[in-house]
Amino acid sequence: MPRALGLRGDLIPDGKFGRQIHERLRATYITVHSTGSPGGTAAAHGRLLSTGKIKAKTKWNKRGYNFWHFTVDDVETVQHLPLDERGEHADHEGPGNSTSIGIEICEFREPARQRAAIERCAKLVAWLRSKYRIPLDHVVPHYFWTMVHYNNWHKPCPRILLDGGKPGAKWNAFLALVRRS
Ligand SMILES: [Zn+2]
Repeated sequence: MPRALGLRGDLIPDGKFGRQIHERLRATYITVHSTGSPGGTAAAHGRLLSTGKIKAKTKWNKRGYNFWHFTVDDVETVQHLPLDERGEHADHEGPGNSTSIGIEICEFREPARQRAAIERCAKLVAWLRSKYRIPLDHVVPHYFWTMVHYNNWHKPCPRILLDGGKPGAKWNAFLALVRRS
């Protein structure tokens, strides 16, 4: 694993906060999100997840919590969930949750910090791609997955990498960065 990832584990306690059930994940996709909470660091999100503070806002989330595998910011990567366990971050009972590793990029108002977080995410995606042999077209924005319980809506996420709420030039630039990482 590349040292530049700055990877640290802060796992959600086994048996709690979404990990009451262990559904096996065999990752064939990587789903990229952004947190929607400017200034919130990876460490802060790790604390929120590991203390059960990120509760579900919809009955369609059967675990009662939102949770994912990694959060990246400008200084580190925090892992919240083993990579062979399914998270709840994309599309409820859909294929996004059942086939993908979920990564949240922290949002920052300072362009240099935002850039550093995006670059760290690209490095993490590159490492995961090689570890699980995931093709570049299986690296997808949260937007890619259809929200069947919401009239097949596509969530405009990761908003920092979308153009007009959809994948476009920024997303393509991110994929190019992944390829170079
Ligand atoms: Zn998302």
